Amino acid sequence: MSLDFHFNSPVEVLDLPLLRERKVQVSVKRDDLIHPFISGNKWRKLKYILAQAREDHKNTLVTFGGAWSNHLLATACAGAKFGFKTHGFVRGEMVNNPVLAMCRLYGMELNFVDRTAYRDKKTLFDQNFLAQDAVYIEEGGFGDKALLGCAEIVQDLSQEYDHIFVASGTGTTVAGLATGVFERNLSTRVHSIPVLKGGDFLKSDVQSLGVNPDNITFHLDYHFGGYAKHTAELRAFVKEFVQDTGIMIEPTYTGKAFYALFDLVKQDYFVPGDQVVIIHTGGLTGFLGMYDKF
Ligand SMILES: *Cc1c(COP(=O)(O)O)cnc(C)c1O
Repeated sequence: MSLDFHFNSPVEVLDLPLLRERKVQVSVKRDDLIHPFISGNKWRKLKYILAQAREDHKNTLVTFGGAWSNHLLATACAGAKFGFKTHGFVRGEMVNNPVLAMCRLYGMELNFVDRTAYRDKKTLFDQNFLAQDAVYIEEGGFGDKALLGCAEIVQDLSQEYDHIFVASGTGTTVAGLATGVFERNLSTRVHSIPVLKGGDFLKSDVQSLGVNPDNITFHLDYHFGGYAKHTAELRAFVKEFVQDTGIMIEPTYTGKAFYALFDLVKQDYFVPGDQVVIIHTGGLTGFLGMYDKF
């Protein structure tokens, strides 16, 4: 099967009182609509990794993630769709949840490993897969190939924006956006909302991908306590946004990015007339891990 199911995901302009009042135009690049489970930036990140795997005649994808990992699910689903076997090393003790069940449904073999063993991913791979036709895929898809796919988000945009926003975990997606903006010689300012506490480490990670961190504005204070942590205020924002727009977001990634953007609008961070685009990176199954809070 051809690897090319890339399509130009739509851009939706938000029509909300706050944005009208402050004269800031906010558009949402709906990468969540690329695929229900190979969603958003996870497809962008896997695209060239899978193309290379195909070229190298590899038949197994091996990767890593936490128990609610959007990347594990995307890899499992992409493997089923494009004819690869998949294997996931899951951090922590054995558990089950809707995301892992979906991984299994798509045929992924799961291996639970304790946090110490998980830290040494190369060894896990080498001990189990070295002699096989397997590809090592970094946690979250981090790497050069993923960056290449993420840069294509900028190529998809049909107009030039003043600002582009995205939620960051490993920083690969925002590094890709900065690369895309640089390649096209745009004056768009690139913004990252780290969803982890102490997101300053992203600067060196982005640099290791060959991107100058000075070309990205990091907003470090919207992590709400850390990865997958959320507060009543964040949940209230997510709820109101979903009800006002019909666009689903969740608290782990997109909720924090949209919260940050709206908070900056309220603080008059933008100039009237500014055009802002925020990337909806998908990952909506994360909601299933906290549905009882809503
Ligand atoms: C993985 C993920 C991110 C973070 O992407 P990075 O490239 O790791 O920074 C953002 N949003 C969603 C929904 C994700 O699943």
